[in-house]
Amino acid sequence: MSNSKWTKIEEILSGKKTGETVNLRGWIYRTRSSGNIVFTVVRDVTGTLQATVKKGNLSDKDFEDADKALIESSLEIQGVVKEDKRAPNGYELQVTGFNVVSFAEPFPITKDQSPEFLMDQRHLWIRSQKLTSILKIRSTVVGAIHKFFRQNGYYEFDAPVLQPNQCEGGSTLFEVKYYDNKTYLSQSWQLYAEAAIFALEKIYNMGPTFRAEKSKTSRHLSEFWMAEMEGAWMDLHDVTEIAKDEVRFILKEVLEHNRRELEVLGQDAKKLEHMSTAKYPTITYTEALDILKEKEKMNVEWGKDLRTLEENNLMSHFDTPVVVTNYPSEIMAFYKPKDPKDQKTALCFDMIAPEGYGEIVGGSQRSTDIEDMTKRLKDMGEKIDNYEWYFDLRKYGSVPHSGYGLGVERVVAWICGIDNIKDAIPFPRTLLRFRP
Ligand code: ATP
Ligand code: MG
Repeated sequence: MSNSKWTKIEEILSGKKTGETVNLRGWIYRTRSSGNIVFTVVRDVTGTLQATVKKGNLSDKDFEDADKALIESSLEIQGVVKEDKRAPNGYELQVTGFNVVSFAEPFPITKDQSPEFLMDQRHLWIRSQKLTSILKIRSTVVGAIHKFFRQNGYYEFDAPVLQPNQCEGGSTLFEVKYYDNKTYLSQSWQLYAEAAIFALEKIYNMGPTFRAEKSKTSRHLSEFWMAEMEGAWMDLHDVTEIAKDEVRFILKEVLEHNRRELEVLGQDAKKLEHMSTAKYPTITYTEALDILKEKEKMNVEWGKDLRTLEENNLMSHFDTPVVVTNYPSEIMAFYKPKDPKDQKTALCFDMIAPEGYGEIVGGSQRSTDIEDMTKRLKDMGEKIDNYEWYFDLRKYGSVPHSGYGLGVERVVAWICGIDNIKDAIPFPRTLLRFRP
């Protein structure tokens, strides 16, 4: 069957098909029957539409099928489009043919079910209006990231997923048996990206990233997608500004393509519009502590990382994302260099989203000091042999360079305004869950 025979629900809702006979295919979203009339709400990827099935308007067999088909049954129906102010979306279909492609069994998901039950039924729950809307926005976000970097002259560069060394600390590594050896699932593409910028200069990538996060939080997944960039000849300031541009670009794309989905999710588009054009402040870690002290009466000891509570309290004073730079060098990864102007701090940054969504981007300038990196790796108990190739990059024409990683799910959760990162990825993997 050719596609042109089929009409999508959004075309009907746009009013272009009123009075015409159309063919639709989709699934039963809701249905109720009262004797000689069945009201079936049909859904397809573009929306939902009420279909009114009246005995006498179609064959007896078709009517019986419409009467007994349960929700999530798949259908091909024919009918006449009518404008109807009482119908949920202003239009209805007066059905003249009702062909059930597959009768559904009683659907296990009914109202008011626990989040854990919905997670067990994820393969079915994915059809919900909420998840469908989030997944559409996720698709826009991913597309926007590719578009942003490609428009700005970056090459897409892929790093191995199986890696012999760590990048972000040994405690969150997933070990994989590799023939007679062991490797780890990628925690970041960064070390390989640093090799590639000496050829390609400006690169980006988006790929699955794995971290064995041992605590349960609403913003950590064990498998997530990180969009990273790395650039030769770039310093910390350069990359913080690129990160701000990228986030604003993502917001613009979502606002252009997903107004309906934002509405389904109850997300305020005005707020996103503001952030799609606003300037985002840059402050230092030390200034962040000052704000916490003055405005929140919170005393954070200099040198301690900002916890969720502190980030949230800090962000209550801002209505856009904020870049925080110069965290204490001690608590930073081995490749983040000390700031020559303030040796206690590192040339690094986090971008923190407002409203409790926490860190969405993390990045830094990269160290070129082999001696310092060697010492730090040794202190962590790492085998230096594994990093010799990485140190080579500093021996053959090293240049200042910087990069960052943006957490796709963190950004999606924030844009959608959802309370748990697990809904920002189709099949979440966490400390307690790797099924279905
Ligand atoms: P956090 O302090 O929140 O654990 P991080 O400092 O470990 O984050 P980075 O190593 O800077 O994070 O990673 C870059 C980005 O990847 C983060 O800003 C965040 O958006 C995302 N990210 C990191 N870990 C996770 C995770 N476990 N699940 C989802 N996204 C993550
Ligand atoms: Mg972390």
